[in-house]
Amino acid sequence: QAKSQGKNRLVRYAPGMAQAAEDKATLAADLAVATAAGQLAVHYQPTIALADGRTTGYEALLRWHHPQRGMVPPMEFIPMAEENGHIVEIGRWVLEQAVRQAAVWTAESGRPVGMAVNLSPRQLADDDVVGLVATVLARHGLPAGQLTLEVTEGVLLRDVDQVVDQLRDLRGLGVRIAIDDFGTGYSSLSYLRRLPADIVKIDRSFVQDLGSEGRSTTLVASIIELARSLQLEVVAEGVETQEQHAVLGDLACSHAQGYLFGRPQPAPAHDHTPSAVPAPQLPVSVG
Ligand code: C2E
Ligand code: MG
Ligand code: MG
Ligand code: MG
Repeated sequence: QAKSQGKNRLVRYAPGMAQAAEDKATLAADLAVATAAGQLAVHYQPTIALADGRTTGYEALLRWHHPQRGMVPPMEFIPMAEENGHIVEIGRWVLEQAVRQAAVWTAESGRPVGMAVNLSPRQLADDDVVGLVATVLARHGLPAGQLTLEVTEGVLLRDVDQVVDQLRDLRGLGVRIAIDDFGTGYSSLSYLRRLPADIVKIDRSFVQDLGSEGRSTTLVASIIELARSLQLEVVAEGVETQEQHAVLGDLACSHAQGYLFGRPQPAPAHDHTPSAVPAPQLPVSVG
């Protein structure tokens, strides 16, 4: 109550829950027009190879600049868009932006720039994602192997057989599948078994305590080992300190992402001109 006293709103008259529901409905209505109004943007965060520190690709992360509320965090509006189905349209838009950007950076730098896009459970259940992805890749001329689609275990709360079929077909195109936020679900091992995947992303909550907390280090070491034996690539999420970086190096983790290496930023902030990122010397192939 004390918190709302200073605000000139209906809070005094409406019970908290009704107010929250109204806020949510307003926000949902605002989101419905956000795409057309140009309020959505995609930011890109680098993923690096720990062996040499080179950027191997980017993850596309959605941003919403609300005209009154300012930046609304994805954790607030994505679950909402998932609930009311808007995520399908928004997700298509993100995919289009991200694939186009990867194609531009690839052309500019002369080396294959990878791109990861988060897929929501509803996109996998409701949409012809396979057809969509094939179309978008073709439109921008991006090789399928440069695209990764990230899913969380939330996809298993829907029609599992359909989801698994879609993921198989996506891999059939040559797209890679990453299991995001690995370790946070109630049944991580079972989804690792059920979902066709190429990459495991270790959740930030485990990475956070690396080094300072013995059990977390043991857990991360086990996940890396497990991934290796299943021939999956590993990405550690949310690396913020040199200490975490060093421990991941000791554990022979292959890839990482985090504020230490780069924050999510709009595309122009990343420089991919050949002078900034020297292209590897490729042998010239003849006939
Ligand atoms: P995620 O896919 O696990 O993305 C990683 C989140 O961790 C991002 O938050 C990123 O900004 C944040 N992060 C990266 N490095 C660090 C770090 O070193 N420290 C800390 N504290 N955080 C770090 P963000 O952008 O707020 O996105 C949150 C979640 O929203 C994403 O988690 C993803 O689940 C969802 N999301 C974002 N964009 C999309 C989208 O286009 N489609 C769908 N379906 N979901 C999205
Ligand atoms: Mg992700
Ligand atoms: Mg994640
Ligand atoms: Mg997450």
